[in-house]
Amino acid sequence: MKKIAVLGTGMAAFGAAHRLVGSPVDVVLYDKASFFGGQTVSFRSPSGFTFDKGPHVSFTKDERIQALLADAVDGRFETVQYKLENHWKGHRLPHPVQTNMHGLPVDVMAKVIDDFARQSLLQTDVRNYEDWLVNAYGRYFAENFPVQYTEKYHTTSPRNLTTDWIGPRMYRPSLEEVLRGALAPATSSVHYITGFRYPSRGGFMSYLEKWARDVAMKLSHEVVRIDTKRALLTFANGVQAHYDALVSSIPLPELVPRIAGAPDDVRAAADRLACSGCVLVNVGVQRPDLTPAHISYYYDRDIVFSRTSSPHLMSPHNAPPGCGAVQAEVYFSKKYLPLAGSPADYVQPVIRDLKRVGLLREDDRIVLEEARLIDYANIIFDHDRPEALRIVHGFLDDIGIRHCGRYGDWAYYWTDDSYRSGEVAAERALGDLR
Ligand SMILES: Cc1cc2nc3c(=O)[nH]c(=O)nc-3n(C[C@H](O)[C@H](O)[C@H](O)COP(=O)(O)OP(=O)(O)OC[C@H]3O[C@@H](n4cnc5c(N)ncnc54)[C@H](O)[C@@H]3O)c2cc1C
Repeated sequence: MKKIAVLGTGMAAFGAAHRLVGSPVDVVLYDKASFFGGQTVSFRSPSGFTFDKGPHVSFTKDERIQALLADAVDGRFETVQYKLENHWKGHRLPHPVQTNMHGLPVDVMAKVIDDFARQSLLQTDVRNYEDWLVNAYGRYFAENFPVQYTEKYHTTSPRNLTTDWIGPRMYRPSLEEVLRGALAPATSSVHYITGFRYPSRGGFMSYLEKWARDVAMKLSHEVVRIDTKRALLTFANGVQAHYDALVSSIPLPELVPRIAGAPDDVRAAADRLACSGCVLVNVGVQRPDLTPAHISYYYDRDIVFSRTSSPHLMSPHNAPPGCGAVQAEVYFSKKYLPLAGSPADYVQPVIRDLKRVGLLREDDRIVLEEARLIDYANIIFDHDRPEALRIVHGFLDDIGIRHCGRYGDWAYYWTDDSYRSGEVAAERALGDLR
C-alpha cells in the first residue's frame, strides 16, 4: 500500500486523516509533541481545572462539521449563549463598544459621535487597517479603542496590517446604531457569533479523542529533515520514514528550513511571515462569580493582557464545584514585540491586573496559577504576508508538499476551516499518488 504521511495532529491533520478513510492508502500522523491535538489540546490539572490552549469554542455554522463534532462526543456538549464584554479605563461595556457606549463619560461619547458623523461623509482611501478603522468609526474612537487593542493583540500598529482578514470580525455600525447605543443600554447583540458548543467534559480536546483512537499516530516525532527527492522524513529521535505523498500542517516558518535544498529566497520569505505567540496565564479561584462574560477584551495599554476568558462558563466541569477559572492572554511576536522574560514572569503581573480590572478580589483564594506558552497563535496580516506567502506556497506546490491548517495555509482559520483545509490537502495528496 502507498503511504501518505501527515505532519501534525491538530484539526487540519484530522481533517486530512478522515478524508483518507476508505482510500487504499496507509495514513500516519506525526507530531513533535508528546500529545495529540495541537492548538486544540486541553490541559486537565489534578485539582480539577481544565484549561484549553487559549479559549476554544465551536461556533461553526457548517452543519456537517457540527454533526461530526457532536458525534465525536456522543452528543455530550453544552450549548451556550455567548457573552462578551469590554474593559476601558475602568468601564465595563457590552460588545462591541461602538454600539454600546452607554455609561461612558458624556465627553467621550460626544467626541466619538461627532467624529463618526464627520467621517461618514469623508471616506478616504484605505491603504491599511488603520485607515479602515478611521473610515469605519472616526479617528477618536479608532485611536482610543481598536488601535490600542490591535497593538496589544496583533502586536503591531494597524498601519502595518492589511484589511483582507477583517470579514465580519469588526462590526461597522450605522450612525443610528451608535446613537442608540450611547443613549440607552444595549438590547441586542450584533456580534457575528451569538452562541457556541463546547464538550461537557474534558475541555475542547474531547472533540478529538474518539478520532485519535482510529488513526495511526506517532507522537514525540519532530520532523527535522524532509528530503523530497528521496521522499524521506527524518525525525529528531533518529527515526526515518518514507512516504509516497506528504501533507503538512506544521507552521511554514518551521517547515521550510527543514526541507533539504530549500532555496535561499524561499527561506527568506518564510522568515518574513509574521505570527503572534501568546503567554496564557491560567488562574483557578475559590469563587465562581468572577464575571458573567465568556470573553472580555481590554483596551488599556497598562493592562498586561488583551483578553480573558472564563473556562468554567464554557462548561461547569472545567472547574471543581464552587470554583471559577480565568485564562488571560498576553501576546508577543518575534517580528514586532518579542517576549520580555519567561512565561512564568507574567503570572504575578496578570494577577495584579486581574485585581485592577475587578475580576479578582484582594481576598480571593487562588488555588491554581500557571503560565503556558503558545508559540504560534494568530497570523499577523502585515504587508509582507501576500508576497512571502506566494513564494512559499509556490515552492511547496512545486515539490509536492500539500499544506493545510491555520499555520500551513497561513490564514485566519477557525477549527472548522482548519479541518476542511486538511480534507483539501488530503485530496491533493491522493492526486499525487495517481
Ligand atoms: C488563542 C486562540 C484561540 C482560538 N479560539 C478558537 C475558537 O474559539 N474556535 C475555533 O474554532 N478556533 C479557534 N482558534 C483557531 C484554532 O485553534 C485553529 O484554527 C486550529 O486549531 C488549527 O489547527 P491546525 O491543525 O491547523 O494547527 P495545529 O493545531 O497547531 O497543528 C499543527 C501541529 O503541528 C505540530 N508540529 C509543529 N512542528 C512540527 C514538527 N517539526 N514536526 C512534527 N510536528 C510538528 C504541532 O505540535 C501541532 O500539533 C483559536 C486559536 C488561538 C491561537
